[in-house]
Amino acid sequence: MGIIVQKFGGTSVGSVERILNVANRVIQEKEKGNDVVVVVSAMGKSTDQLVDLANQISAKPSKREMDMLLTTGEQVTISLLAMALLEEGYEAISFTGWQAGIETEERHGNARITNINPDVIKKELTAGKIVVVAGFQGASNTLQITTLGRGGSDTTAVALAAALKADQCDIYTDVTGVYTTDPRYVKGARKLDAISYDEMLELANLGAGVLHPRAVEFAKNYNIPLEVRSSMENERGTIIEEEAKMEENLIVRGIAFEDQVTRVSVLGLPNELTTLSTIFSTLAKHGLNVDIIIQNTTSDNKTTISFSIKTGDLEDTISILEQHKSELKYERIESESGLAKVSIVGSGMVSNPGVAAEMFAVLAEQEIEVKMVSTSEIKVSTVISGEHMVTAVDILHSAFDLSKVTARV
Ligand code: ADP
Ligand code: ASP
Ligand code: MG
Repeated sequence: MGIIVQKFGGTSVGSVERILNVANRVIQEKEKGNDVVVVVSAMGKSTDQLVDLANQISAKPSKREMDMLLTTGEQVTISLLAMALLEEGYEAISFTGWQAGIETEERHGNARITNINPDVIKKELTAGKIVVVAGFQGASNTLQITTLGRGGSDTTAVALAAALKADQCDIYTDVTGVYTTDPRYVKGARKLDAISYDEMLELANLGAGVLHPRAVEFAKNYNIPLEVRSSMENERGTIIEEEAKMEENLIVRGIAFEDQVTRVSVLGLPNELTTLSTIFSTLAKHGLNVDIIIQNTTSDNKTTISFSIKTGDLEDTISILEQHKSELKYERIESESGLAKVSIVGSGMVSNPGVAAEMFAVLAEQEIEVKMVSTSEIKVSTVISGEHMVTAVDILHSAFDLSKVTARV
């Protein structure tokens, strides 16, 4: 007996039938004698539909009002799930994020959780109730409603598990676990029995949408073992923990990828010590996130700085650079969109030199040009043309033997 946090994503609560299925899963845990807290997402694609509604009214909707709108999605699900549980004869109560004591910074659209006051939830658990909490939302200390970024319900669940000192946190989704790569794109993707926090964090940050990166960060910081598993099937999922019990001696454990990448090059910059810091502090001040950075000096003693960004940030990036042209003293800007980032991740890389070289060789063999590279101890990322993204993932998946991974049944 203990406290269990269960999280169900959009597809898992996408219809009345599925909400009833979720209610059954929750009841099974309650019947084992556990205290159960359930975190849910908005039904199906309803968050996307709300975004679409806003875009029909404004090309750049107010971020505050956007949070006001998007948090309604989760509010629909919590009430319906609580009703389903009540209907089955179980005591249940639903809470919005702020009612559940989730405090965030006042940053609309991508707020970080700053504090959780779990007293309200604890009181209801003590009274024997199943507590249903809206994912993806909180409120600032000035009572502004905020959201945690797309996919943020995972983070709500893990943060609550930490605050409640829960014994278990299960993330129920529409796949049976964390795979070697996204099974929707690569047929040979294999489910992993276990993966370490660090590897999962890299994969999540590099585009593997199965878990919100900040959820993994929380789990690592508070040492909460997570299990990612299917809400439809009963098989065991993937355990994410400190030292994953690896049956297989894999150097690369997973491949992540994302499209909508743009490379921006700023040419003819003065070759000065402060050039890098001036450019990137200017972009950072305007909230623009830059990923891979490459700097080189040209024969005329000028500097070129190239960096990758999300394609959606291109317009803002160019406009900020143009506004600051006189202080940055560059000659011109070039950009290339339609790119993708493909990354291999695995903690075995630390002790195995030559993994990056092998990745480049595999890509070169398929005549896929690598335009940018970045590495850390446990990952290698390459920026390539978007049209080659899925092929690259596929061939790297085979080259690093990921199709041979076998999961326990
Ligand atoms: P939920 O609504 O339950 O939060 P998401 O759509 O956010 O579900 O995450 C599940 C999806 O993540 C899967 O359907 C799959 O397409 C995608 N995905 C990406 N990378 C991986 C991976 N390595 N393993 C499993 N699923 C992945
Ligand atoms: N409903 C939100 C989204 O679609 C949060 C989540 O599902 O985790 O991004
Ligand atoms: Mg998700």
